[in-house]
Amino acid sequence: MWMRDVPIADRTRWKIGGPAPAFAAAASDDELRGLLAEVPGQRVLVLGLGANLLVADGGPGAPVLVLEGAYKEFEVLDKTIRCGAAAPISSVVQAARRNARRGLWILEAVPGSMGGALRMNAGTAEVGLWEHTLWAEAMWPDGTVRRVEREDVRPRYRGIDLDPAAIFLRAEIEAPPGDPLLVEREHSRRRTAKLEAQVYDQPTCGSTWKNPAPLAPSAWELVDRVGMRGAQRGGARISTRHANFIVNTGGATAADVTGLMVETRRRVLEETGIALEPEIVFWGFEREVLDELGVTSR
Ligand SMILES: Cc1cc2nc3c(=O)[nH]c(=O)nc-3n(C[C@H](O)[C@H](O)[C@H](O)COP(=O)(O)OP(=O)(O)OC[C@H]3O[C@@H](n4cnc5c(N)ncnc54)[C@H](O)[C@@H]3O)c2cc1C
Repeated sequence: MWMRDVPIADRTRWKIGGPAPAFAAAASDDELRGLLAEVPGQRVLVLGLGANLLVADGGPGAPVLVLEGAYKEFEVLDKTIRCGAAAPISSVVQAARRNARRGLWILEAVPGSMGGALRMNAGTAEVGLWEHTLWAEAMWPDGTVRRVEREDVRPRYRGIDLDPAAIFLRAEIEAPPGDPLLVEREHSRRRTAKLEAQVYDQPTCGSTWKNPAPLAPSAWELVDRVGMRGAQRGGARISTRHANFIVNTGGATAADVTGLMVETRRRVLEETGIALEPEIVFWGFEREVLDELGVTSR
């Protein structure tokens, strides 16, 4: 059932953004199909765990769906892990770790849901989830379900080429058995490195900007170089710990975050000639704002 004017800020890591004009949760393919049929022709936004998302102060401007129930489940099979799109990344990754399965260490200490990770091709700078994904099933707005494989979605750094209206339902991820000591070491090494360098004790959405081309300085170095580390606007601050993270220090608005981003991007472009591109996803913003932020299509 769709509900009207539902606050969603608390469902995002940043705790920012206005209410969704319509909001619903689906626990099965049939339920999801039914909900989509009630809003024909409208672009429906699917919310994972909000770990990579900035919602505008005026709200997302479109109906928002979440997946729940069986979509949160996952199963460790002989050489793979089959998971629902709402399964928390952390649960799947820790199951891989406990069962000495290779590969999923690329998502160690990455917050969010598996559906969000499929959409973002989440992972490290070098390897994204699609490199380990055998297939995923997605539902289109007309209710059809299609299975897609790696070559269908053409994965790239932090993105895929798939109709943005497609909603991931479930996926099967390669996770072959490995040497228990090696698997444990990889998880532990990556987790420690992330927890030491990044910001986990305050509301952030992880890396704000994608790293530019491989030979260019990384995004945090560029932010640092133009003097924006620690810069504050309203309740939003560029972290002093990691210059590619923006923290909601309390009461930040989406305008505070975008204000910091536009200023950073302008300075980096002027001083280095490099045009930063956001890693985070934006809901409910005008095209002019997205242009100022350097958002291409997704
Ligand atoms: C501290 C911190 C560290 C992080 N480190 C990393 C990292 O190392 N590597 C990395 O890649 N990311 C990292 N991130 C970013 C984030 O964790 C990932 O992008 C994650 O995959 C987001 O998942 P989510 O469920 O929260 O997605 P959301 O933020 O809810 O949504 C992101 C996008 O995915 C879409 N989406 C969500 N669910 C579905 C679905 N079922 N079907 C289709 N589309 C869907 C949304 O519509 C939206 O477009 C980090 C974030 C934080 C806060």
